[in-house]
Amino acid sequence: MTKHIFVTGGVVSSLGTGLTSASIGLLLERRGLKVRMQKLDPYINVDPGTMSPYQHGEVYVLDDGSETDLDLGHYERFTNSPLSRESNYTTGRIYQKVIAKERRGEYLGKTVQVVPHVTDEIKAAVLNLARPDTDVVITELGGTVGDIEGLPFLEAIRQIPLEIGKENCLFIHLTLVPYLKAAKEAKTKPTQHSVGQLRQIGIQPDVLIVRTERPLGRENTDKIALFCNVEKRAVIEEQDKEFSIYEVPMGLVEHGLDQLIIEKLGLKDRAGRINMDDWEQLMQRILHPQNEVTIAVVGKYIDHRDAYKSIYESLDHAGFSHSARVLVKRIDAGDLEEQGAEMLLSGVDGILVPGGFGMRGIEGKILAAQYARECDIPYFGICLGMQCAVIEYARNVLGLKDANSSEFSSTTDHPVICLLEEQKRITDKGGTMRLGAQPAVLMDGSKAAECYGTQEITERHRHRYEFNPEYRQQFAKSGMQATGTSPNGNLVEVVEVTNHPWYVAVQYHPEFKSKPMTPHPLFHGFVEAALERHRERMQLPV
Ligand code: GLN
Repeated sequence: MTKHIFVTGGVVSSLGTGLTSASIGLLLERRGLKVRMQKLDPYINVDPGTMSPYQHGEVYVLDDGSETDLDLGHYERFTNSPLSRESNYTTGRIYQKVIAKERRGEYLGKTVQVVPHVTDEIKAAVLNLARPDTDVVITELGGTVGDIEGLPFLEAIRQIPLEIGKENCLFIHLTLVPYLKAAKEAKTKPTQHSVGQLRQIGIQPDVLIVRTERPLGRENTDKIALFCNVEKRAVIEEQDKEFSIYEVPMGLVEHGLDQLIIEKLGLKDRAGRINMDDWEQLMQRILHPQNEVTIAVVGKYIDHRDAYKSIYESLDHAGFSHSARVLVKRIDAGDLEEQGAEMLLSGVDGILVPGGFGMRGIEGKILAAQYARECDIPYFGICLGMQCAVIEYARNVLGLKDANSSEFSSTTDHPVICLLEEQKRITDKGGTMRLGAQPAVLMDGSKAAECYGTQEITERHRHRYEFNPEYRQQFAKSGMQATGTSPNGNLVEVVEVTNHPWYVAVQYHPEFKSKPMTPHPLFHGFVEAALERHRERMQLPV
């Protein structure tokens, strides 16, 4: 029988429910259990694909091409849970299913209502995730308890224990205990209120994970236990981590969360004890780096900390493997256009231009690519960052002065990036891009092939525009090679500038496949090249 864990968040948003859920998954896997993870998002968009990164942070793409919430990135970085379209449901998607059924007449003349029809659809989404070999399904509920739009989801998960047995379900609630400096006291009242709201709906949490700035002390945790009707040992504190999110799982192990879950769910764990040795070694490398390197990330959503989440994580992972702290200089592409590349980019060891949509900031990104190329600074272009590199090369090396992408100019004489025929016909904005995992073949001897250690790769995509094949030869002749293509050779996946220390730009999104212990090969190679440059600049010994 698959067990179910439900993780809810209370008091305030942005508490890190995703990170905590992913950490719980990691802990259980390290007790030898098979885990599947899922997020339920109460907003009405069918998926986050059409949302601006300013609203919602990064859109995380899975192998199957689904555009999902960025918390699924945490799940993939922390666990081996297979993720697919079934791993992220929104209110919009649930209603889409219900309305489609209603139109097909499947409700047999009944009045279609939130309870039971919408809640049944939510329950099905949760219960369907269990497979014969799944020990635990972890379902994270987005939003904050008390939000109107979250109610049907809470009602649905309230019903699940009635269906599959209370002993097979565990409710974990994440809350915040703020510390009031003036009173020199931690305040438990918001937590009490949040649990009160849950209990009103009919959910009694079994475990409370309490986010806190400072250690809580027994007195506070006992008080929370009493007022919230939870066992004392089931109030687990999760103190803010100063250096790295990868400290979170260790903290939860120290407070005995893995053992508590195993006992409460009556799980038979195959490992018998938790093995975190490799994670501890990773922590040592994270906390005591030997080197340092500065990477500029030039984008347009720079102010939003989560807009390039997986990029920042992947840079960190590459840093861990080189025992280096990666200092990221976040540069707004608009500022770069105004102030010039020299002003903002001199002194960095590597330049990364990430993906994006729309015209704003394009010229700044093109300047960044030019500066990296001309000053021999390692350059890593990702999706739009690759397209900007191609435009820059066309303008400044091939002499095609008005070269552009047809996304930004419909009148350019040289659309070096353009829509291919099949994309031209699509007008719908949701899920109509080239999405998800696609194979590619790398040129023997290329930097990319050297990094991957293989010539056959699979990477995730999310874009509409492509390198215009008509210009390929012209580029190759003047030093920008297409070193990776789709297996039939038609689509350009990777370009490299040959007479440069490290200039690799890719049409896909490598940042979705990096993990803390196994950094993505291109991020690994890029940070290595940046370290090399750093050493040269500082005249440090190798
Ligand atoms: N806007 C570009 C395209 O659609 C790049 C997309 C991206 O960077 N993800 O092709």
